[in-house]
Amino acid sequence: MSYLHLKVPPTRDERLKPCHAYGGNMDGLIHGQKEGCLTSNGRTFAQCTGCQLLLSAVMAASIPNTVLIFHAPVGCGSCFLMFAGVTKEYQTTRGNEDSVGMIWLSTNLNEIDVITGGETKLEQAIIEAEERFHPHAIFVANTCVPAIIGDDIDNVASRLRPQINAKIIPLYCEGFRTRFVATAYDIVYHGILRFLLGDDKVDWKPQGEVERREYEERCKRTVNLLNVGSMGYVDEKELTRLLNAIGLEVNIYPCFTPPEKFVKVKDAALSVSICATHDDYFVEHLKELYGIPYVLNTIPIGTDNVRLWLLEVADFFGIREKALGVIEAEEAELREALKPLRTFFEGKTTFVSTGEIRAGAQATMLEQDLGMKVLAIRTHHYDKFGDVVFDHFKGRDDVTINVATAQPFEQANLLNRLKPDIFLGHTGSNVWAAKQGYPVLSIFGPVNSYMGYKGVFEVATRLERLLQNPEFFKTLGETTTLPFKEHWYDEDPYSYIQQTLDAA
Ligand code: SF4
Repeated sequence: MSYLHLKVPPTRDERLKPCHAYGGNMDGLIHGQKEGCLTSNGRTFAQCTGCQLLLSAVMAASIPNTVLIFHAPVGCGSCFLMFAGVTKEYQTTRGNEDSVGMIWLSTNLNEIDVITGGETKLEQAIIEAEERFHPHAIFVANTCVPAIIGDDIDNVASRLRPQINAKIIPLYCEGFRTRFVATAYDIVYHGILRFLLGDDKVDWKPQGEVERREYEERCKRTVNLLNVGSMGYVDEKELTRLLNAIGLEVNIYPCFTPPEKFVKVKDAALSVSICATHDDYFVEHLKELYGIPYVLNTIPIGTDNVRLWLLEVADFFGIREKALGVIEAEEAELREALKPLRTFFEGKTTFVSTGEIRAGAQATMLEQDLGMKVLAIRTHHYDKFGDVVFDHFKGRDDVTINVATAQPFEQANLLNRLKPDIFLGHTGSNVWAAKQGYPVLSIFGPVNSYMGYKGVFEVATRLERLLQNPEFFKTLGETTTLPFKEHWYDEDPYSYIQQTLDAA
């Protein structure tokens, strides 16, 4: 599928044809997605959505020793401020004690630049980034305004490369180009593949003959573990522990990894993703360019999906029996630890809202590992990669499925009908649920554990704590009102979704 000859990769809308608006059951969603009849679903009213710029920026800025330039009016990326400080902490936690956190600049385009063009300002910003910070790489994030007025950031980068030591990496993350913010991951990987990998001038392999042979032997059992920016170091440690336990070595990319280490990506025997939404573009290209196969089917959340994930990796290396030994010992220990908690969770209901892959796996974990009852799942979008992680919910009419990027009005209506005991979602959607009086648990977080066997236990204990004392949320619900009219709660929550065909 190589798109690397293109300056701008295709959007998810073009490449994967996902669905972004749906209300119904799981079978209708899977069937409609397969038939392609949900792609043009829309809404006659939409409350808000996301811009891929922010997601691109979060991913790019996680990489240390880089500068990120927003080629933009100063407003674009201003909400990026919420990441100030935390990036440094996340990098430090991962052993980068000299981290200064993210450094970002804006070309601050104004009305005059819209007439005269913004390329000169971008040139100045790149030179300033080089002179002030001496980074290994400079990401240039293109936004709507320069895209509309026709600034050519690739051209600017090419002009400056002879005089700039840093690798200049253009990122085409204009918000208007896509309805699917996950396109951001393709954009950043596209830049990394074009300008950070494949620098064959650098010989990173050990020089001595023996050391070189040892290194090459090690590579045969080394995997690229692909993390995501919202993933904590604790989860990376847990997954590394499991992969080490079956005899594999692990290198982690792309988030929080120094850019000079990226050249080693192509030495690994296998790429191991934990999220297809994040990685399919990257792993396909690694396979095509460097012949590295990949594992992409699931996310290691919940015992079933951890088992599936680990066995897929093991099968590639022909070590299934060894992996089964590890899995059975870990599952037995976990079952014992969960026993008292399962009694507590019996009969408790829940509502899950997050990205496609995490949503399916986390909801499955809540039912299978904890014995809770899932009433509803919301996912930001749906594409072919969801089918494996949603397997548990096939044939189920008792779980409502809503595909929506944000759209808090739909969520509020659903919550008001379903009244779950607890809501698990992103911080943004959690605020709305909390104001309705529901206890909320963040469904991802860079300081807490979610993945592997440790993740199952930790999520269970956090849920138990919240459910034991929901008073804060109860009071918040009693003293807060959402901005929706009362009659909205009596209407069909999906009444603003336009389904082009009845997928069910
Ligand atoms: S949609 Fe365009 S103008 Fe708005 S923040 Fe994103 S890049 Fe900037």
